[in-house]
Amino acid sequence: MRELGDAIKAGISADELARLPLPDTYRGAGIYRDDVGIFEGLDSAEKDPRKSIRLGEMTVPEMAPDEVAVAVMASSINFNTVWSSVFEPLPTFIFLERLGRESAWGARHDQDFHVLGSDASGVVLRVGSAVREWKPGDHVVVHPNYVDDQDPFGHDDAMMAANQRAWGFETNFGGLADMTVVKANQLMPKPAHLTWEEASVNALTASTSYRMLVGRNGARMKLGDVVLIWGASGGIGIYAAQMALRTGAIPVGVVSSPEKVELMHRMGVEHVIDRKAEGYEFWDGDVQNEKEWRRFGKKIRELVGEDPDIVFEHPGRSTMGASVYVAKRGGTIITCAATSGYTIEYDNRHLWMKLKTIKASHFANYRECWETNRLIDKGLIQPCISDVYRLEDAGEAAHQVHSNLHEGKLAILCLADEEGLGVTDREKRERIGEHNINAFRRHSRDVHSQPA
Ligand code: NAP
Repeated sequence: MRELGDAIKAGISADELARLPLPDTYRGAGIYRDDVGIFEGLDSAEKDPRKSIRLGEMTVPEMAPDEVAVAVMASSINFNTVWSSVFEPLPTFIFLERLGRESAWGARHDQDFHVLGSDASGVVLRVGSAVREWKPGDHVVVHPNYVDDQDPFGHDDAMMAANQRAWGFETNFGGLADMTVVKANQLMPKPAHLTWEEASVNALTASTSYRMLVGRNGARMKLGDVVLIWGASGGIGIYAAQMALRTGAIPVGVVSSPEKVELMHRMGVEHVIDRKAEGYEFWDGDVQNEKEWRRFGKKIRELVGEDPDIVFEHPGRSTMGASVYVAKRGGTIITCAATSGYTIEYDNRHLWMKLKTIKASHFANYRECWETNRLIDKGLIQPCISDVYRLEDAGEAAHQVHSNLHEGKLAILCLADEEGLGVTDREKRERIGEHNINAFRRHSRDVHSQPA
């Protein structure tokens, strides 16, 4: 695999690349079935992804006719990798077993080593016999929507397919690896002005935020809308904030430190609430604390003079009561997750009496991913890397996300073992501006490595 990586970095032609033999195995970061249960009885904070995410060798799977083999140059950490690494809410091996029972091709995924990762940028190595749009040598990014096109319910909106899955979470052969095998309809052209690592961090979280706010399946944000964004410097929130600014909406970002407030201001979000400094306690023991919802709502009115048209919701149990309360009459609470707990409590009177809507959103269909990639390609939305790690430090990077020590996105170098590679349109990069593309970087361009 190293040789393939070196050949790509040296600019090998597409024809030569197609002739190079694929290796039998490749390096991947993932979890082992034998480790399920190692965190039993521990508190959430004690469950440490550094103990469960390990490097291993994966056998290169046989490729189905609609699949593509991709040399992964870079990938990123998403929260689903954190869920997998702590075996919550379910060990992901259960998902692999389910997929394994579906078909002979599905059976390839049911293994004792689960290579994780739901993002990747890289180079096409091989295409299956049914693939028309892609060829060896293409520079691509991979989105994680893994759907079976034989399900009729997926043909209006692929997210409605009964067997829709997240690649690298509910399937094996994820992106935290030197190679992956994905469906051809997961591929999108890599923005030529971005490095491998910059291109690798966007597909999952930016597309999720696009569907939640911009696309026709979400809250349909428009010019002037007040949009309350929880975790506005996190993986999905930071793209939500950019999209709100670009649309001419009025984002109100909620974050939890002065540094994150500063980051929000730097990116142009004027109205920011530091939830830690404010000390909100939306739960009073076992009971929701309506006084605190009111204090939060008052703060938003002080900042923007009105209530939010849209609440971008994902923390779940700890914030949903407040989100329902503060939304404007007729407003929408759009939710895609429940990081702090799935069993939600809110006061329904505030929902029905004021004709609010709670709307569910989950990842994004191919078209929504494609539109999001187009925005990134045009430089309208920037990649949100704060740090870059090596593949062998994927566990450390997942730990940073699990412990909320990060901002934006953490990229992982796979075959691209140094930063700054992969740009094929320098003129466009200059036009869009290095300072815009790297606006979220915490460190200079050194790969963040673990202290010895
Ligand atoms: P992330 O990078 O960890 O960011 C989440 C942010 O939420 C954190 O930075 C934190 O910001 C804030 N937060 C965490 N706990 C909170 C709490 N109890 N109250 C208020 N704010 C809290 O994660 P992400 O990538 O943005 O993902 C967020 C969630 O969405 C995860 O559960 C993930 O699995 C889910 N997700 C779902 C989909 C989907 O397709 N359905 C797609 C992507 C992500 P502050 O501490 O600064 O406030």
